[in-house]
Amino acid sequence: MDEEKPECGTGRILLVEDDFVNGKIISRLLELENIPTAWVKNGREALDFYRQNKDSVLMVFMDLQMPIVDGYQATQELRKNGFKRPIIAMTANAFSDDQVRSAEAGMNDFLLKPVSKIDLSMMVEKWMNNDRN
Ligand SMILES: [Mg+2]
Repeated sequence: MDEEKPECGTGRILLVEDDFVNGKIISRLLELENIPTAWVKNGREALDFYRQNKDSVLMVFMDLQMPIVDGYQATQELRKNGFKRPIIAMTANAFSDDQVRSAEAGMNDFLLKPVSKIDLSMMVEKWMNNDRN
């Protein structure tokens, strides 16, 4: 895959998570990384957001199980629409084929829920050039 490691600049992270409590916690943890975060609730909203904000989306944290459009479909659509930056899958299922399926759908990496501050920091560090820290 043609990957980029984006600079933080004026961009933001797109968080796609249907669960209110998880979304609250993860968006708060991302704010602590000093990166603006936009939180949407399903894959369709993620696609809409991307179409309206293309270059400002630096990376995506993507829940897999969501209503309307799930994380796999959303990732495939984002890739079809030209999004080449990192997409990180999030799932609570440690012992499933989620990791394989998410890679096949075009996701770059995998984060286990509940998401910890340290794991999230490491993902941002790994996949993004964040000069705001
Ligand atoms: Mg979910």
